[in-house]
Amino acid sequence: MTARPVIIGSERSDVGLPAGMAILRAGGRAIDAVEAALRECEDNEADHYVGTGGLPNARGEVQLDASIMVGSTRAFGAVGALRDFPHPISIARAVLERLPQHCLLVGEGAETFAQECGFARAELLTDEARRLYLDALGAQDAVEGEHTEASPGDRRYRETARALMQRLAPHDGPWGTINVLALDAAGELCVGVSTSGYPWKYPGRVGDSALPGAGNYCDLRYGGAACTGRGEMAMRVCGAREIVDLLAAGATPERACAEMLADARSLPDEFAAELRALALTPDGRHGGAAGKEGSVYALMTVGHSAPEIRPRRLVS
Ligand code: ASP
Repeated sequence: MTARPVIIGSERSDVGLPAGMAILRAGGRAIDAVEAALRECEDNEADHYVGTGGLPNARGEVQLDASIMVGSTRAFGAVGALRDFPHPISIARAVLERLPQHCLLVGEGAETFAQECGFARAELLTDEARRLYLDALGAQDAVEGEHTEASPGDRRYRETARALMQRLAPHDGPWGTINVLALDAAGELCVGVSTSGYPWKYPGRVGDSALPGAGNYCDLRYGGAACTGRGEMAMRVCGAREIVDLLAAGATPERACAEMLADARSLPDEFAAELRALALTPDGRHGGAAGKEGSVYALMTVGHSAPEIRPRRLVS
């Protein structure tokens, strides 16, 4: 099978899409294109939601989630709550390719595996991200004053963390997990997702980005899909898998994303509108949807010299 290569990605993926398209244009594989594009994004220190420069958890540690899935085999590799390694997407790929019978490694085990594979450790907390964290701690003290209990993990912790998240997840800026979806000339589809997760998240929290069916799903018969934003909503509806099921039932990519978001919006959650989704079919059709106005995605085909920015459908 031959196809016209295309690569799409969520907000801020335009930093990485040219690297992915260069691979596709040369006849390379979708998995290589997705990994290359996401590595560029993970290296972008100006981006506080992925890789180096990502915002830390409540303990001040950067913990990363990433996954990669291949359409023809539905092979899946992922890491969750990974510290100290700047390219989680490559370690997710190593889980997929080098670790038989495993799909997902988290925490210390993921770090041991990364080290065994020869990946280099690095400091992920940049000065800018540390400053944002310390500013947030100052704000947290103000909220904590309203409560009496003290230990992390208790009700007070969750309330303050929630209050912080509400204030700190910016709604109008470039934020959130990065999704990259690619179709190569051989007709293979691949979906990759990489994130530092919620700022100030509970240590050990793993989001949808590392979970098959939630933040990432890819099935060459119907298409691939990925989510950004409120990860717990994507987990609760199995968002990426739901989109692929809708593609299988004949929905267009944009409509499939919009229907999944409408389903998520029907559940009780004050952050439900934060979810966004993208989809790409094996014949190269693509689309996206979001619960907030102004959300876009980036696109490159072989004819593009730079990423083109497209609007997502608004689901209100
Ligand atoms: N989906 C990510 C997570 O739940 C967060 C985000 O995209 O903002 O970890």
